[in-house]
Amino acid sequence: MAHHRASGARSTPCPRSGSPCAAALRRLRAPMRAFVPTLFSFAAALCAQVPDPGQPPAAPFAPGITYDARIPPLELVTGHAFGAEISAHADVVQYLHALAAAAPDRMQLVEYGTSWEGRRLWYAIVGTPANVQRLPKIREGMQRLADPRGLADAEADALVKDLPAVGWLANCVHGDEPSGTDAALLVLYHLLAAQNDPVAAKVLQECVVLVDPLQNPDGRDRFYHSTRAARGRWPDATPLGAEHSQPWPGGRVNHALFDMNRDWFAMTQPETQARVRAFLDWWPLVYVDLHEMGGNSSYYFAPPAAPVHQEISAGQRGWLQRYGQNNARWFDRFGFDYFTREAYDSFYPGYGEGWPTFHGSVGMTFEMGSARGLVYRRKDDSLLFYRDGVHRHFVASMSTLETLANGRDEALRSFLQHRRAGVARGETGPVKAYVFPDRGDRTRLTRLMNLLLAQGIEVQQAKGELQAAACKPLLGGEAGTVAFAAGSYVVAMAQPASTLAHVLLQPHFDMDPGFLDEQKRREQRRRDTEFYDLTAWALPLLFGVESFACGELPRGELQKLRAGDAGAGLGSVREQPPAVAYVVAWGQNGAAAMLADLLRVGVKARCIDKAFTLAGTEFPAGSYVVKVHDQPADLHARMRELAKAHGVVPFCADSSWVDKGPNFGTNAGLVLKVPRVAVAWDRPVNANSAGWLRYLLEQRYGVPVTPLRTHELARVELDRFTVLVLPESAGAGYAAVLGKGGADAIKGFVERGGVLVTFGSASRWLMDKDVALLASEAEARQKPKDDPKHDKPKDADPQQQGDKPAAAADKPFDYETAIRPDKETPPNTPGAILAVTIDPDHWLGFGYRGSASVVHDSSNIFTPVKLDRGTNVAIYATGDQLVRAGFVWDESRRQLPQKAYLVHQPHGRGHVVAFAEDPNVRAFADGLNLLLLNAVLLTAGR
Ligand SMILES: [Zn+2]
Repeated sequence: MAHHRASGARSTPCPRSGSPCAAALRRLRAPMRAFVPTLFSFAAALCAQVPDPGQPPAAPFAPGITYDARIPPLELVTGHAFGAEISAHADVVQYLHALAAAAPDRMQLVEYGTSWEGRRLWYAIVGTPANVQRLPKIREGMQRLADPRGLADAEADALVKDLPAVGWLANCVHGDEPSGTDAALLVLYHLLAAQNDPVAAKVLQECVVLVDPLQNPDGRDRFYHSTRAARGRWPDATPLGAEHSQPWPGGRVNHALFDMNRDWFAMTQPETQARVRAFLDWWPLVYVDLHEMGGNSSYYFAPPAAPVHQEISAGQRGWLQRYGQNNARWFDRFGFDYFTREAYDSFYPGYGEGWPTFHGSVGMTFEMGSARGLVYRRKDDSLLFYRDGVHRHFVASMSTLETLANGRDEALRSFLQHRRAGVARGETGPVKAYVFPDRGDRTRLTRLMNLLLAQGIEVQQAKGELQAAACKPLLGGEAGTVAFAAGSYVVAMAQPASTLAHVLLQPHFDMDPGFLDEQKRREQRRRDTEFYDLTAWALPLLFGVESFACGELPRGELQKLRAGDAGAGLGSVREQPPAVAYVVAWGQNGAAAMLADLLRVGVKARCIDKAFTLAGTEFPAGSYVVKVHDQPADLHARMRELAKAHGVVPFCADSSWVDKGPNFGTNAGLVLKVPRVAVAWDRPVNANSAGWLRYLLEQRYGVPVTPLRTHELARVELDRFTVLVLPESAGAGYAAVLGKGGADAIKGFVERGGVLVTFGSASRWLMDKDVALLASEAEARQKPKDDPKHDKPKDADPQQQGDKPAAAADKPFDYETAIRPDKETPPNTPGAILAVTIDPDHWLGFGYRGSASVVHDSSNIFTPVKLDRGTNVAIYATGDQLVRAGFVWDESRRQLPQKAYLVHQPHGRGHVVAFAEDPNVRAFADGLNLLLLNAVLLTAGR
C-alpha cells in the first residue's frame, strides 16, 4: 500500500472534499437510501464539493512507501487528505500538535512569533531521538560555526564530524500560494511515518529538519476564506472564476499589506522579525522558500536566473547547481516539468532566498504553478489540481533534504568557510569598516544601528574620539583621514557577517554585464525587461544618514552593542518644567513621532516656519513650540515620557525671547491641527502602497488612519478629515473606479481646505483634464531627435547639410525611425536610488538640508509646475549627482534631471501634495518619512 489513506476511519462521514465523499455517498446510496433519506441528503449536502468533472490524480505521493499507523495522516486530524483541501491556519496548528504528540521523541514544535492578527507562528523540528534530545547542543554548535573567530581547526573538525546538517523549509510567505503549506505537513508526516524509505532514513540520520509550514497565516486565511466562500457545488476550474480571483487586497500580503518576501533586511513586520530571530538561533545550511506562480507555469527551482549577486560565492553557486540537479533527477522520475535559470534572479537581499545566502546559508526559491484553489484549467486545457502542487513541493522538499543529507559534512564546511571569509574580508578587503558619525538625525541613525544588530551584524560604538585613515564619504568626495566624535558607530568588516553588512551598506553593486546588455537589447526592441526587483537598497541612503567607508580600521576605544542598545538614553527633558515653553527642533523623525503623540492627546503646538536662535541654540524652520500654559495638567510628565520614548531632547525655554529670527508669536507660524487622515482603500489602490502608508503613520508615528473604500469616496463626508491620501494604483487606475462623482468629491474636499496627498500613478490621475488638480505633465519618452547628441550623424558635414537640403526621395529609408512609436512612456527604471534637491523654504521641505535619496521605481517623469501654479518642492538632481545607486537607463539619466519629485499646488483653500513616486516604499526609506509627515502634520490649516 502506498500512500496511507484513512477513509472510513473517522467518525465524521464526509470530509470537506476529495474522493472519500464519493465513497460515502455510494455507501449510502445502495441499501440504506430508502430508510434514511434525511441522512442521505445531509451527506449529499456535505459532499457537494466533489470535483466534477476531474478528480485529482490519485497517483501516490511516494510510491511504494508504507507508513507507520501510529502517526496520524492529515485526514485523521483535519478531515481532509493531503492535497484534497487547502488547510487553513487552524488546521495546520492542529495537525502540527497531533504529529508532535504522536512522536514527541522525534519532533518538537517551537512557537516563534505572532502575526498582526494574533495567529501563532510555528516551526517544527524533526530529527532522530538522539538529535532531538540534544537540540540545545546542536544550536550551540551551529552558533560556534557561525562565529568561527578563535575556533581551532581541530575544534572545527570535531564540530563538522558531530553536527547534523540543519535544513529549513519555509512555506507560504505569500498567503495565496498555498500548496507549500500542505506539502510541508506531508514532509513532516513522511519523515515521521515512512517505514521503508531510504531517503527519509538518510535525512533523519544526517539532518535536523526545520519546517515552517506557514509564514504568513493572516494572508493564507484571507485567501482560504475567499476561495472557499466562492466555491459552489463543484470546485470550478475557470481561471477567472471567483474561486481563483481574489477580492482586494488578496492573500499575498500580510495583515499590514506588506510583501514579506521583500522584508528580510528591513524587518518592518513582526513575522519577519520573529523569523530572523529564529534563523539566527539555528543558522540553517539550506533555506528553501516555497512559493507558487501563475497556473500556466510548471515548476521552478535553482539555479537562479541572472543576475546573481556578485557576493554569492562560487561555493554557494556550486551548491545551487547541486540542489537543482538532484531536484531534476527526482522530477524526471515522476515526469514533472520544471525550469531553472529563468525568471527568478538572486540579487535583492530582502528575499527569503537572498538574505540567508548573504549570511552563508544556501537560500533558494521554489515556485509551483498555482491552482489558486482546488483545480485550475490551464491554457492547454489540462487541469491543474491543488494536489499537484502539494506533490511537487513535497518531492522538491525531500530531494533538497536528500542533497543536504548526502553532503552533510561538505555543507557544514562550506558554511564555516563563508563565515571565516567574512572575517577575512576585514583583513584583506578594500573597506575595513563603515563608520557612522554621531550627528544629524540621531533617531534615524540609532534605528539603523539597531536594525543591523537585530539581523546578526556586529556594531560598535566609539567611547572616545576615533581616527581613521582612507575614509570616503558615502555621497562621494575624496578619501582622507577623518576624526569621528565619541558616540559614532562602527561596523567593522572583520566579522563573520561582513558579507551581509557589505551588501546592505555599500551603495551600489553592478549587475552582470551580459545581463545588462541583454536588457538594453530587449528595451530597444520594447520587449519586457527581466529586472525582477529593485536594483538598489543601500540602507545608509534609504535612512538618509551620513556614512564613511574606511580603508583602515578606526583607532580608538570601541564598545560592542547588543540589539536595542543603540540610542538607549538618547531622549530626555530636564527635571524642572520650563517657565515658558518646550521647543523641539524639526529634522529628526523622533521629533515628528513625538509631535503626533502630543497632538493626539490634546496638547497644543505651534510650528515656526523660519529658523531661529534661542539662548544660543539654533532651531531650523519647522521646529515646534509647546507653550506650558493652557495645556493638559500632566504636560511635563508627558513631555518627559515621550522624549524618552522617541529619543528627543526638547529645549526648555524659560523666556520667550529669541536671539535671532521670529518670536513664538510670529505670523510665520502655524497652530498645528490634530491630523485626521483618510486613505483610499480597495481597488484600484495598490495594496502595498496603502499598507506602507498606514503602517508608517499608525505604527511608527502614532497617526490614526481611516481607510475609505474607493468606490464609496464620493459618498463619504470627506470634510471630517484633514488629509486624504491616494496611494499608488494598479490596473485601470483611479479614473475607472472614482468616475466623475469621486473626482468631484475629492476636488470639493481640497477646495474647502483639505490636504490631498498622492503618490505616483495617483498623481498622474490628478493631471487628467477632467480632474485638473495638478498642473504638471507626465512626460513621454524622448525621441532621439529631441536629444541634441543624436541630432545628426557624427560624420555629417554641417556646411554641406545647410547648403543642400536633401530631397525626401534621396534619403534612404530609415527603418529604426519608421518603427518608433509616436508617443510612449519613458523606459521603466527598475528601482534605483536617485538624489532630489529639496526647497528648504517650503514647509514640505522642512527638516532637510539640501537633498535626499529617493527610490525611483517607475517610468514617471513629471514636468515641474510653473511658478504661478505651485512649488516644485523636490526636483531630481542634475549631472552625476542624479544616480546614487542602482540601474538607470541612459535616456532617463538625460530626461530626469530637474523634473518634479514633489509638487505642492494650492487649490481653493486647500492643498495638493503630489509625489512622483511612493516615498514610503517598503517602509524602509526612513530618510523620506519627513516629506510625508510634513504633508500630514504641517500642512492643514495653511
Ligand atoms: Zn510567492
